[in-house]
Amino acid sequence: MPHQIAIVGVGKIARDQHLPAISASPDFDLAATASRNAQVGGVPAYNDLASLLEAQDHVSCVSLCTPPQVRYGDARLALEAGRHVMLEKPPGATLSEVQDLIDLAAAKGLTLYATWHSRHAAAVAEAKAWLADKAIHKLDIQWKEDVRYWHPGQDWIWQAGGLGVFDPGINALSVLTEIYPRALHLSRAELRFPENRDTPVAADLTFYDAGGAQVTAAFDWLHAGPPCWDIHIETDAGTALLSEGGATFAIGGNPTQIGAEMPGEYPSLYARFADLIATGQSETDLSPMRHVADAFTVGRRTVVAPFEW
Ligand code: NAP
Repeated sequence: MPHQIAIVGVGKIARDQHLPAISASPDFDLAATASRNAQVGGVPAYNDLASLLEAQDHVSCVSLCTPPQVRYGDARLALEAGRHVMLEKPPGATLSEVQDLIDLAAAKGLTLYATWHSRHAAAVAEAKAWLADKAIHKLDIQWKEDVRYWHPGQDWIWQAGGLGVFDPGINALSVLTEIYPRALHLSRAELRFPENRDTPVAADLTFYDAGGAQVTAAFDWLHAGPPCWDIHIETDAGTALLSEGGATFAIGGNPTQIGAEMPGEYPSLYARFADLIATGQSETDLSPMRHVADAFTVGRRTVVAPFEW
């Protein structure tokens, strides 16, 4: 029998990705939603998760699609009520609150899944396999998009805890931490904050690699035109480019042939959630979020022009 799942926060990502993925999944049925202002036609709707959990006993899983600043309270509520929990990225506003959820899920014997959707992009696994036996000289991330196009009117991204340009940037870091064969740590960061906002609009990062490679990242949210979500790699065996957010991979300029049979990022996330529940496991890698926290800790702050929509 499919798991009965509830969505919390019926907004952009819920409508764009979660609802279609659940509706195509053999593992889940959408049983209810909790959202202050939005509903899904034909599905029982509640204003908040507490009322949903009280009314819908048969809901066994909760998928949280709200902004990170408000995720913890609902995640704790769901776990305390004995439900498995799936978290959108980033898994919360602070590392400590997510650690608290990890401990609670373990104590309750429930599944907690901190998702990183970009890790499920079509070419990421291939890039990881290719890189595994190479001597890496250089890796450079260019992650640039137009915030006005991709996040229209979303004020939470500019409020403390909303991460600013690290909201897309953490996707790049989730791919980096997945494909890189060694642990890295941040050695320098330059963060540019609009003078009227709490979170940065651009960032340049430099990582330390004990293997000696030069590892850098540039995030920019005022990039006009088509987005650039690329990772350029130089190794002893030549160059490679992981592009389109991890969807395509080229070695020495030659695209590899993959992807056609891949399920897509969100169908793959829900399949993984079902596997984790079936095997009684959790998956909660916080390394992308740790790099972001480190960037806010060591980053030099520059104030730039105000941002208006
Ligand atoms: P969104 O549409 O702005 O927010 C999702 C929904 O959360 C809202 O529609 C709102 O529904 C509810 N909500 C509850 N408390 C809120 C608050 N304090 N402020 C704003 N909304 C609140 O955001 P989103 O783009 O779907 O992103 C949600 C999460 O998914 C983020 O962590 C983001 O990083 C991640 N994500 C987004 C994308 C994307 O392309 N947008 C892609 C991948 C992942 P009600 O008003 O009905 O309660």
